[in-house]
Amino acid sequence: MRLVLLGPPGAGKGTQAQFLTARLNIPKISTGDMLRDSAESGAALGLEAKRYTDQGNLAPDDMILEMVEERLQQPDAGKGYLLDGFPRTVYQAERFREWLDARGEALDAVVDLLVSDDEIVSRISMRRVCHGCHETYHEVSRPARIADLCDQCGHKLSLRDDDVAELVRARLKIYHDRTEPVLHYYRGQGLLIELDGRRPVAEVTDSILDALAQREGRQR
Ligand code: ADP
Ligand code: AMP
Repeated sequence: MRLVLLGPPGAGKGTQAQFLTARLNIPKISTGDMLRDSAESGAALGLEAKRYTDQGNLAPDDMILEMVEERLQQPDAGKGYLLDGFPRTVYQAERFREWLDARGEALDAVVDLLVSDDEIVSRISMRRVCHGCHETYHEVSRPARIADLCDQCGHKLSLRDDDVAELVRARLKIYHDRTEPVLHYYRGQGLLIELDGRRPVAEVTDSILDALAQREGRQR
Protein backbone atom coordinates (compact mmCIF):
# COMPACT_ATOMS: atom_id res chain seq x y z
CA MET A 1 0.00 0.00 0.00
CA ARG A 2 1.28 3.48 -0.86
CA LEU A 3 -0.08 6.09 1.51
CA VAL A 4 0.40 9.78 2.20
CA LEU A 5 -0.36 11.24 5.62
CA LEU A 6 -1.02 14.99 5.60
CA GLY A 7 -2.19 17.57 8.12
CA PRO A 8 -0.79 20.64 9.83
CA PRO A 9 2.40 20.44 11.90
CA GLY A 10 1.44 18.74 15.17
CA ALA A 11 -1.68 17.06 13.75
CA GLY A 12 -0.43 13.65 14.87
CA LYS A 13 1.11 12.36 11.62
CA GLY A 14 4.25 10.95 13.24
CA THR A 15 2.25 9.47 16.12
CA GLN A 16 -0.19 7.76 13.77
CA ALA A 17 2.57 6.66 11.43
CA GLN A 18 4.17 4.63 14.22
CA PHE A 19 0.98 2.62 14.72
CA LEU A 20 -0.05 2.41 11.08
CA THR A 21 3.29 1.15 9.81
CA ALA A 22 3.21 -1.65 12.40
CA ARG A 23 -0.35 -2.59 11.41
CA LEU A 24 0.19 -2.30 7.66
CA ASN A 25 3.76 -3.63 7.64
CA ILE A 26 5.16 -0.81 5.52
CA PRO A 27 7.98 1.63 6.34
CA LYS A 28 7.34 5.18 7.50
CA ILE A 29 9.13 7.73 5.37
CA SER A 30 9.13 11.11 7.10
CA THR A 31 10.85 13.94 5.25
CA GLY A 32 11.07 15.92 8.52
CA ASP A 33 12.87 13.02 10.28
CA MET A 34 15.18 12.56 7.29
CA LEU A 35 16.17 16.24 7.31
CA ARG A 36 16.76 16.24 11.08
CA ASP A 37 18.86 13.04 10.87
CA SER A 38 20.88 14.50 8.04
CA ALA A 39 21.53 17.75 9.96
CA GLU A 40 22.51 15.86 13.11
CA SER A 41 25.00 13.76 11.20
CA GLY A 42 26.53 16.97 9.81
CA ALA A 43 25.72 16.04 6.18
CA ALA A 44 25.65 18.93 3.70
CA LEU A 45 22.00 18.35 2.76
CA GLY A 46 20.82 18.50 6.37
CA LEU A 47 22.86 21.59 7.19
CA GLU A 48 21.56 23.33 4.07
CA ALA A 49 17.96 22.34 4.97
CA LYS A 50 18.41 23.64 8.52
CA ARG A 51 18.73 27.16 7.13
CA TYR A 52 15.08 26.83 6.12
CA THR A 53 13.63 24.57 8.83
CA ASP A 54 15.07 26.70 11.68
CA GLN A 55 13.09 29.67 10.31
CA GLY A 56 9.92 27.57 10.03
CA ASN A 57 10.14 27.70 6.22
CA LEU A 58 9.81 24.76 3.85
CA ALA A 59 12.99 23.27 2.44
CA PRO A 60 13.42 23.70 -1.35
CA ASP A 61 11.19 21.44 -3.45
CA ASP A 62 14.00 19.98 -5.55
CA MET A 63 16.05 19.06 -2.48
CA ILE A 64 13.06 17.23 -0.99
CA LEU A 65 12.12 15.49 -4.24
CA GLU A 66 15.63 14.18 -4.77
CA MET A 67 15.81 12.92 -1.17
CA VAL A 68 12.40 11.19 -1.35
CA GLU A 69 12.98 9.60 -4.74
CA GLU A 70 16.28 8.17 -3.56
CA ARG A 71 14.65 6.81 -0.39
CA LEU A 72 11.76 5.23 -2.30
CA GLN A 73 14.20 3.20 -4.36
CA GLN A 74 15.48 1.35 -1.31
CA PRO A 75 14.33 -2.27 -1.10
CA ASP A 76 12.07 -1.87 1.95
CA ALA A 77 9.88 0.59 0.02
CA GLY A 78 9.17 -2.03 -2.64
CA LYS A 79 6.19 -3.37 -0.67
CA GLY A 80 4.70 0.12 -0.18
CA TYR A 81 5.23 2.97 2.26
CA LEU A 82 3.65 5.61 4.40
CA LEU A 83 4.83 9.11 3.54
CA ASP A 84 4.66 11.49 6.50
CA GLY A 85 4.85 15.18 5.65
CA PHE A 86 5.40 14.82 1.90
CA PRO A 87 4.28 16.24 -0.49
CA ARG A 88 3.89 19.68 1.09
CA THR A 89 3.52 21.78 -2.08
CA VAL A 90 1.53 21.26 -5.27
CA TYR A 91 4.82 21.27 -7.18
CA GLN A 92 6.09 18.34 -5.06
CA ALA A 93 2.76 16.51 -5.57
CA GLU A 94 2.86 16.98 -9.34
CA ARG A 95 6.50 15.90 -9.69
CA PHE A 96 5.85 12.93 -7.40
CA ARG A 97 2.90 11.88 -9.52
CA GLU A 98 5.07 12.00 -12.66
CA TRP A 99 7.69 9.91 -10.87
CA LEU A 100 5.07 7.30 -9.90
CA ASP A 101 3.49 7.34 -13.37
CA ALA A 102 6.87 6.66 -14.96
CA ARG A 103 7.07 3.47 -12.86
CA GLY A 104 3.49 2.41 -13.53
CA GLU A 105 2.69 3.01 -9.85
CA ALA A 106 0.04 5.04 -8.04
CA LEU A 107 -0.92 6.14 -4.55
CA ASP A 108 -3.68 4.19 -2.82
CA ALA A 109 -4.88 6.99 -0.55
CA VAL A 110 -4.02 10.33 1.04
CA VAL A 111 -5.17 10.75 4.65
CA ASP A 112 -5.62 14.27 6.02
CA LEU A 113 -5.84 14.75 9.80
CA LEU A 114 -8.02 17.74 10.69
CA VAL A 115 -6.99 19.64 13.83
CA SER A 116 -7.66 23.32 14.65
CA ASP A 117 -4.81 25.84 14.83
CA ASP A 118 -5.38 26.47 18.57
CA GLU A 119 -5.13 22.75 19.34
CA ILE A 120 -1.94 22.57 17.25
CA VAL A 121 -0.30 25.40 19.18
CA SER A 122 -1.15 23.67 22.45
CA ARG A 123 0.04 20.21 21.30
CA ILE A 124 3.33 21.45 19.91
CA SER A 125 4.17 23.34 23.10
CA MET A 126 4.10 19.99 24.91
CA ARG A 127 5.70 17.79 22.25
CA ARG A 128 8.93 16.04 23.15
CA VAL A 129 10.82 13.95 20.63
CA CYS A 130 13.47 11.28 20.67
CA HIS A 131 16.25 12.07 18.22
CA GLY A 132 17.40 8.45 18.44
CA CYS A 133 14.34 6.60 17.13
CA HIS A 134 11.87 9.44 16.31
CA GLU A 135 9.29 8.36 18.89
CA THR A 136 7.05 11.31 19.80
CA TYR A 137 5.72 12.15 23.27
CA HIS A 138 3.43 14.71 24.83
CA GLU A 139 4.11 15.98 28.34
CA VAL A 140 0.51 15.38 29.43
CA SER A 141 -1.31 13.01 27.07
CA ARG A 142 1.63 10.74 26.18
CA PRO A 143 4.39 11.11 28.77
CA ALA A 144 7.48 8.91 28.75
CA ARG A 145 7.50 6.22 31.46
CA ILE A 146 10.76 7.65 32.86
CA ALA A 147 10.77 11.46 32.68
CA ASP A 148 12.72 12.77 29.67
CA LEU A 149 13.90 9.34 28.47
CA CYS A 150 12.56 7.53 25.42
CA ASP A 151 10.55 4.39 26.30
CA GLN A 152 11.81 2.67 23.15
CA CYS A 153 15.54 3.39 23.03
CA GLY A 154 16.45 5.26 26.23
CA HIS A 155 17.73 8.41 24.45
CA LYS A 156 17.10 11.75 26.12
CA LEU A 157 13.93 13.52 24.93
CA SER A 158 14.02 17.14 23.84
CA LEU A 159 12.09 19.91 22.17
CA ARG A 160 12.52 20.19 18.42
CA ASP A 161 14.47 23.32 17.39
CA ASP A 162 11.49 24.52 15.34
CA ASP A 163 8.86 23.85 18.04
CA VAL A 164 9.29 27.25 19.64
CA ALA A 165 6.11 29.33 20.03
CA GLU A 166 7.18 32.12 17.64
CA LEU A 167 7.71 29.66 14.79
CA VAL A 168 4.57 27.58 15.23
CA ARG A 169 2.14 30.22 13.92
CA ALA A 170 4.50 30.89 10.99
CA ARG A 171 4.59 27.15 10.18
CA LEU A 172 0.80 27.03 10.36
CA LYS A 173 0.53 29.95 7.94
CA ILE A 174 2.85 28.16 5.52
CA TYR A 175 0.72 25.05 5.91
CA HIS A 176 -2.46 26.96 5.02
CA ASP A 177 -0.83 28.80 2.11
CA ARG A 178 1.35 26.08 0.56
CA THR A 179 0.12 22.66 1.75
CA GLU A 180 -3.66 23.04 1.85
CA PRO A 181 -3.69 23.36 -1.96
CA VAL A 182 -2.15 19.85 -2.00
CA LEU A 183 -5.35 18.60 -0.33
CA HIS A 184 -7.40 20.08 -3.19
CA TYR A 185 -5.03 18.44 -5.66
CA TYR A 186 -5.60 14.98 -4.16
CA ARG A 187 -9.33 15.56 -3.63
CA GLY A 188 -9.58 16.14 -7.37
CA GLN A 189 -7.99 12.74 -7.93
CA GLY A 190 -10.45 11.01 -5.59
CA LEU A 191 -7.61 10.00 -3.24
CA LEU A 192 -8.34 12.20 -0.21
CA ILE A 193 -9.69 10.81 3.08
CA GLU A 194 -10.35 13.55 5.66
CA LEU A 195 -10.58 12.51 9.29
CA ASP A 196 -10.99 14.19 12.67
CA GLY A 197 -7.50 14.24 14.22
CA ARG A 198 -8.69 15.70 17.55
CA ARG A 199 -9.86 12.40 19.00
CA PRO A 200 -7.65 10.20 21.22
CA VAL A 201 -4.70 8.60 19.41
CA ALA A 202 -6.10 5.04 19.30
CA GLU A 203 -9.46 6.26 17.94
CA VAL A 204 -7.73 8.18 15.18
CA THR A 205 -5.71 5.08 14.26
CA ASP A 206 -8.88 2.97 14.11
CA SER A 207 -10.68 5.56 11.99
CA ILE A 208 -7.80 5.60 9.50
CA LEU A 209 -7.68 1.79 9.27
CA ASP A 210 -11.50 1.65 8.88
CA ALA A 211 -11.47 4.27 6.14
CA LEU A 212 -8.68 2.43 4.28
CA ALA A 213 -10.54 -0.89 4.56
CA GLN A 214 -13.75 0.69 3.28
CA ARG A 215 -11.92 2.22 0.38
CA GLU A 216 -10.24 -1.07 -0.50
CA GLY A 217 -13.64 -2.82 -0.33
CA ARG A 218 -15.13 -0.28 -2.74
CA GLN A 219 -12.25 -0.70 -5.17
CA ARG A 220 -12.56 -4.50 -5.32
P1 ADP B 1 3.08 15.70 13.47
O1 ADP B 1 3.94 14.50 13.12
O2 ADP B 1 1.84 15.80 12.63
O3 ADP B 1 3.86 16.98 13.48
P2 ADP B 1 3.04 14.50 16.14
O4 ADP B 1 2.64 13.10 15.86
O5 ADP B 1 4.45 14.77 16.49
O6 ADP B 1 2.55 15.49 14.95
O7 ADP B 1 2.08 15.03 17.33
C1 ADP B 1 2.23 16.34 17.87
C2 ADP B 1 2.02 16.29 19.39
O8 ADP B 1 0.64 15.98 19.66
C3 ADP B 1 2.84 15.22 20.10
O9 ADP B 1 3.23 15.71 21.35
C4 ADP B 1 1.87 14.03 20.22
O10 ADP B 1 2.19 13.22 21.35
C5 ADP B 1 0.54 14.75 20.39
N1 ADP B 1 -0.59 14.03 19.79
C6 ADP B 1 -0.60 13.31 18.64
N2 ADP B 1 -1.82 12.80 18.39
C7 ADP B 1 -2.62 13.25 19.40
C8 ADP B 1 -4.02 13.08 19.70
N3 ADP B 1 -4.83 12.36 18.91
N4 ADP B 1 -4.49 13.67 20.82
C9 ADP B 1 -3.67 14.40 21.62
N5 ADP B 1 -2.35 14.59 21.40
C10 ADP B 1 -1.83 14.04 20.30
P1 AMP C 1 8.00 17.88 10.04
O1 AMP C 1 8.87 16.98 10.86
O2 AMP C 1 7.18 17.13 9.04
O3 AMP C 1 7.19 18.84 10.89
O4 AMP C 1 9.00 18.78 9.17
C1 AMP C 1 9.94 19.64 9.80
C2 AMP C 1 10.41 20.69 8.81
O5 AMP C 1 11.13 20.05 7.75
C3 AMP C 1 9.31 21.50 8.12
O6 AMP C 1 8.87 22.61 8.89
C4 AMP C 1 10.01 21.91 6.84
O7 AMP C 1 10.88 23.00 7.08
C5 AMP C 1 10.87 20.70 6.50
N1 AMP C 1 10.14 19.76 5.62
C6 AMP C 1 9.70 18.51 5.96
N2 AMP C 1 9.07 17.95 4.92
C7 AMP C 1 9.12 18.86 3.90
C8 AMP C 1 8.61 18.87 2.58
N3 AMP C 1 7.94 17.83 2.06
N4 AMP C 1 8.84 19.98 1.84
C9 AMP C 1 9.53 21.03 2.33
N5 AMP C 1 10.01 21.09 3.57
C10 AMP C 1 9.81 20.01 4.37
